[in-house]
Amino acid sequence: MTIQLHDTLQGRKIPFEPLVEGQVTMYLCGPTVYNFAHIGNARPAVVFDLLARLLRRRYTLKFARNITDVDDKIIAASLETGEPIEEITAKYAKIYNDDMGALGVQPPDIEPYATQHIDVMVAMIARLVEDGHAYEAEGHVLFDVETHPKYGELSKRDLREMIAGSRVEVAPYKKAAQDFVLWKPSTDEQPGWDSPWGRGRPGWHIECSAMAEKHLGETIDIHAGGQDLVFPHHENECAQSSCAHGGAPMARYWLHNGFLSLDQTKMSKSLGNVLLVHDLIETIPGEVIRLALLGAHYRQPLDWSAETIESARRMLDRLYGAVRGVDVSAEACAAADVPEALIAALEDDLNTPKALAEFFALARALNKASDPAEIESLAAQMFAAGDLMGILQNDPEEWFAGHVEGDMPADEIEALIAKRNEARAAKDFQAADAIRDQLKDAGVIIEDGAGGTTWRRGG
Ligand code: AMP
Ligand code: ZN
Repeated sequence: MTIQLHDTLQGRKIPFEPLVEGQVTMYLCGPTVYNFAHIGNARPAVVFDLLARLLRRRYTLKFARNITDVDDKIIAASLETGEPIEEITAKYAKIYNDDMGALGVQPPDIEPYATQHIDVMVAMIARLVEDGHAYEAEGHVLFDVETHPKYGELSKRDLREMIAGSRVEVAPYKKAAQDFVLWKPSTDEQPGWDSPWGRGRPGWHIECSAMAEKHLGETIDIHAGGQDLVFPHHENECAQSSCAHGGAPMARYWLHNGFLSLDQTKMSKSLGNVLLVHDLIETIPGEVIRLALLGAHYRQPLDWSAETIESARRMLDRLYGAVRGVDVSAEACAAADVPEALIAALEDDLNTPKALAEFFALARALNKASDPAEIESLAAQMFAAGDLMGILQNDPEEWFAGHVEGDMPADEIEALIAKRNEARAAKDFQAADAIRDQLKDAGVIIEDGAGGTTWRRGG
């Protein structure tokens, strides 16, 4: 079976075939570095990290994720805080990578910075001007959408309707409202570079087109990002790249992740409900956040709540619980592969809910197994599956020991449970209940069953 991917341009799932056999190029629009990434921003990073890991099983992958370090929002942040632009961008690019690293996101093969590619952008803009796809007006260079009949194809918008319906006041130097900026003038205080159109800076869209061309070629295999980028960002990238490359498509497959909401509402600064990854990882293990992000299919909306986190934590407790105490030799690890059914689920347009169901089937088989060789082999398969999905990377004992700061360590929990059992045996139910409450306050839930008392973190 070939890998199946949902392509936004075709609007359906199609078999994936790279342009060059055995090799894949993938570009993911990265962060604009002027503040912390929120949990919604982490979704594309995690989802497409999983896709990169999956592709690497079959292909040689060249994966680029850019850093946008020139942007009006960065200039505004610098004016507001008084911090120099270079310090802001260097600081937040590092924080972004550290935060994503905490979620198990592997560094991309190439991480191009926009400010280091101004020459490539200027060359691409010059080509567009030369070929009549762009025009200069009052120090700006604009892409002329009327010269590209396919404009609107990716986002399924009709250019005529867009023009007719545009109510925003159009800048006087634009021929049409939908024409977008490739280059704009900078004042002396603003960051700027010399160009044939005067001192200025690039627009956002041209950055990605130029960096993708430079590092991955004229037509790349996969272009990915969040669904809000389909229009205008990717539509514009698509238009200018294809016009600069004699009509060759920019990407063969366009992939977009669905949006993440917070307690059923849109995350927004004005509502004050923005959850930063940087804060979340202070108290929640990165693997829990990663699994929570992978719990829903990547194209579906994902609502983030306390329950999303707790359910991911419980899932990981079950997976770690299955491999806990099993000695897996290096040879068994080397010999183990990820179960076919799990791979098949992921290769079917990254069906993570199905892949996780397969993961749990493996854990159940391991829990039931009694033959030591089978136990070792199943545990090794679980670790292999964990390596692919970017989870199960901790030592199980450490996981249960509550390596998260602030969590009650496992031995303390077990000592309290033993004390409670003694109290129950002595019919001192008041003392037993007090211990249960103490554990509950520490976020630990206990359950009394036929086989004794079990506990989990969940409060
Ligand atoms: P931005 O910094 O706004 O350009 O966003 C960086 C990446 O995060 C882009 O791929 C966006 O599509 C994606 N993104 C932003 N907000 C969300 C959200 N709430 N849910 C999912 N993805 C998002
Ligand atoms: Zn982009």
